[in-house]
Order: sequence, then structure tokens, then C-alpha cells
Amino acid sequence: MKDPQTYIQGVLNKDRRVLSKTITLIESSRHDHKALSRQVIDSLIPHSGKAVRLGITGVPGAGKSTFIESLGMFLIRKGHKVAVLAVDPSSTRSHGSIMADKTRMEKLSIEPAAFIRPSSSGGTLGGVASKTRETMIACEAAGFDVLIIETVGVGQSETTVASMVDFFMVLMIAGAGDEIQGIKKGVLELADAVVVNKADGDNIEKAKQARKEYESALHLLRPETMTWSAPVLTCSALKMIDIDKTWETVLNHRKKFTDSGELEEKRKKQAVAWMQALVGDGIKEWFYRKNDVRKSLTKLRCDVEKGSVSPTSAANDLLSRLDEPIN
Ligand code: GDP
Repeated sequence: MKDPQTYIQGVLNKDRRVLSKTITLIESSRHDHKALSRQVIDSLIPHSGKAVRLGITGVPGAGKSTFIESLGMFLIRKGHKVAVLAVDPSSTRSHGSIMADKTRMEKLSIEPAAFIRPSSSGGTLGGVASKTRETMIACEAAGFDVLIIETVGVGQSETTVASMVDFFMVLMIAGAGDEIQGIKKGVLELADAVVVNKADGDNIEKAKQARKEYESALHLLRPETMTWSAPVLTCSALKMIDIDKTWETVLNHRKKFTDSGELEEKRKKQAVAWMQALVGDGIKEWFYRKNDVRKSLTKLRCDVEKGSVSPTSAANDLLSRLDEPIN
């Protein structure tokens, strides 16, 4: 498929096969694909932006896929169309910590109103995230009105996902201990809500206790604003208990942020930040492709490793090439 119109019309006609092909195009690193993809995305942008964009993080085992499956089924029953995407720079198609995998969401994956796409393979976090953002646009243009973006706590991936969604949810489990859950202060600072999962059977009391602990932690880390104070909820993704409450929280937040104008403001800021990040990536790519930089880099790396040149002088040496004409 070489004609942008085939992609654009197919996506707008809600053709899933074309949507999948469009995402493959977005993920492609081929030069001609990139140009075609840009054309397609530019035409789809006016048809995007209406979905609820929900980010979900949690350590492996917290119950993300079970939760997304339960929430997804709940939303589909309410008439929504749900797309599940992932940001996971560590994953590849064949191995790694594969996320949003169809096999992990058996019921949801066979629903016609659901669309599940694993993380695009390889690349840097910035690269993966950029592709996910464009995939979000394509899914919205194809009529999906709830987008769930999943990530695990790999490096900066939570910050990245939080910067592309309207609502960021942190899934926790009780009694695992903060070290085991790898809770970083930063993650709680990003949370619009913390959800303690697996509140079922013998675990209910522990979940309630954990809820109290996270409430006091959040109180310190995520100061209340006029519009929002991040709540801590409990649920059981497996038994489908209180999944509705988590969704109510998302909607409640949405209403408040829409009324106050903060949602629009947030999305504007996210779009500008994305543009700047792309410029940053582009400059880096261009810089490292420059012949003289490529030539000197190998030697300077060795020198810095040996300690014969300081990192600062090596960096200055490389950066001085910026004044030279582009190769
Ligand atoms: P992920 O790695 O965060 O995606 O976690 P999974 O969804 O794969 O869940 C990890 C394990 O926890 C699986 O064995 C699930 O069946 C189980 N699990 C997930 N949610 C719940 C829950 O609400 N209650 C209980 N008891 N187990 C759960």
C-alpha cells in the first residue's frame, strides 16, 4: 500500500485490518514509510482527540493484564470501543517482557470492540513512545473512545506514559513490600489514582491496610490541587469487584478537568512537549550521523575510557563540530 488515502480512508471507515497496517507503517523505520506515515497521521489528527486516554502502570504480577481485561470488558458492555497499547522499550516481538499481549487478555482479544496491540519492538524509549502516540491518533480516528496505555516501571517509562495520557493509574498489591513492588517516589507523584488490586478472599484486610498506607504516602507526595486529590481505591481484577469504581474515578476526574479547562491545557502542553522531544531526538540523530562526528566518536570514546581525555573535553570537542556545515 503506497497511497496515503488507502490508509486514511480505511482507518476512518473503522477497518481494523487497515488500522493494523497503519500501525505497522507507523512503526516502520524505513525512510519512505516514515514520509508516508507522516502524511497519514497529519490527515488523521483532526479526527482524533476525543478518546479517554488512560495510562496504567504496575510491577509485573500486580495484575495489569487481568485488570485491563476486566475494565475493558466492563467498558465494552457499556458500549465503548477500547484500544490497548503498550510502552515497553525492553520488549521485542519474540521475547522480553511482552506487554498488552493478546494471549494475556483472552476474552478482550476476541471482542470486536477491542483492539490490542503489543509494544512496538526495539528502539529507545523515546522512539517507542513516539510510535505509541501516533498509534493513539490512528486508534482514535478509527473510533476507539477509550485508550489504555500500559507500561511497567522500566526506567523512565512511567513518566513517558504519564505525559501522553489524561489519567495515570498506578496498580499496586498489598503486602508485597515497597522494595518488591519497586515503588519509586516518582511514580506516586505521577499518580492520579492508586488502585490496590487483588482485594479479594483472604487478602481483603491486607488490601484495606495497604490503602491506608498509600493514602498517607500520597498525601505527602501528591499535594491536593483545587481540582483533584488523588484517591486510593481497592479492587479485584480477577473477581471483577469494584472495577466500576475505578472507572467512575476516571470519569469524575475527567469532568472536573474538562470543566476547569485543565484537560485542554494538559493536552496542549503534552503536544508541545512531544514536538520538542522530537526535535531533540532529530538533532541528536542528525548530529551522530555527521561524518566527522562519526569518525571522531570512536577515538574519543576510547580516550575517555582510558582516561586520557576527560568526558568534558571530549564532549566539547564533538560539540565544536556544530559550527561546521552539515555533511
Ligand atoms: P501483570 O504482570 O501486572 O500483567 O499481572 P497479571 O494480570 O498477569 O496477574 C498476575 C497474577 O495475579 C495472575 O496469576 C493473576 O491471575 C493474578 N491476579 C490478577 N488480578 C488478581 C486479583 O484481583 N485477585 C487475585 N486473587 N489474583 C489476581
